[in-house]
Amino acid sequence: MSHPLTLDDIRRAPKVLLHDHLDGGLRPDTVVELAEAVGYTGLPTRDPAELGAWFRDASDSGALERYLETFTHTVGVMQAREALERVAAECAEDLAADGVVYAEVRYAPEQHLEQGLSLDEVVEAVLEGFRIGQERAAAQGRPIIVGTLLTAMRHAARSLEIAELAVRYRDVGVVGFDIAGAEAGHPPTRHLDAFEYMRRENAHFTIHAGEAFGLPSIWEALQWCGADRLGHGVRIVDDIDHAEGGKVRMGRLARYVRDQRVPLEMCPSSNVQTGAASSIAEHPIGLLRELRFRVTVNTDNRLQSGTSLSEEFAKLSSAFGYDWDDLQWFTVNAMKSAFLPFDERLALINGRIKPGFAQLKWATR
Ligand SMILES: [Zn+2]
Repeated sequence: MSHPLTLDDIRRAPKVLLHDHLDGGLRPDTVVELAEAVGYTGLPTRDPAELGAWFRDASDSGALERYLETFTHTVGVMQAREALERVAAECAEDLAADGVVYAEVRYAPEQHLEQGLSLDEVVEAVLEGFRIGQERAAAQGRPIIVGTLLTAMRHAARSLEIAELAVRYRDVGVVGFDIAGAEAGHPPTRHLDAFEYMRRENAHFTIHAGEAFGLPSIWEALQWCGADRLGHGVRIVDDIDHAEGGKVRMGRLARYVRDQRVPLEMCPSSNVQTGAASSIAEHPIGLLRELRFRVTVNTDNRLQSGTSLSEEFAKLSSAFGYDWDDLQWFTVNAMKSAFLPFDERLALINGRIKPGFAQLKWATR
């Protein structure tokens, strides 16, 4: 009886996004314009439509070097204050236009120092951009709250410094900390001092874990580092077996993740592109939602995946038959897991998410 969800309907739903990279969400025409403005000559093409397609193809190619090359270009044009401000402002506007009401957007400040900005200047430029973008979105009748996560690169040795930066800006828009980059050979425990510092400061962090690499990475992120959430966490399915009679048997780690309600920041299209899942229809999100893990749906890199949060939900809805109740469940999961004060989370759930979904359910019944 349920009405199939259209992309347009899903765009109108009040959504929450916890895992989105600033350098993975630029508009193709902005990449071209910034490259011209700063004299960046490395782009494969200066035609925005072709460039957008190139980003998707390079990320689809299955070759890690080509995927990483896409970030060389986006990070390459994000080295000046004005560029960072513009990219952040447009990010907030684009997410708001997609119906996102709360987002946590992350980036690695240490990657934006090539032209002489300091870490603090990078953070201030991005915060100013988000402020401008939130103001414009509100003026267009689509209010959005954007929090920032500061990411440290796991192959580098600056994580404590970045964690300190996150704490320094915690009262003006930075809501947490993260580590990202190649998992294999770079276990999260290498950055234990940064995580211990965050915990001593009563601050929040998530860790990219269980994307390319398996259970040990998830286990370290949770039990050694104390992560509040897992970036991806897809490989937790390696600890879940299908036993006889359609029953499911979970190992201790999977049970811990479910029992503790550890939020999983899943990014379906991105996981397919990097090979962490073989297709959307076979993405572990289907099983994990059934088992009621604290699953959330995210975009990761909107430019590289040619996607938006609404499109991710539309793909899941057609693969798994998800309806408004499922979408609301994912959304409330995400809002409950946000690094925002409890009363503010509750205000968004009761003031925007529940009424928004109730209205949509009624309008599309
Ligand atoms: Zn990510």
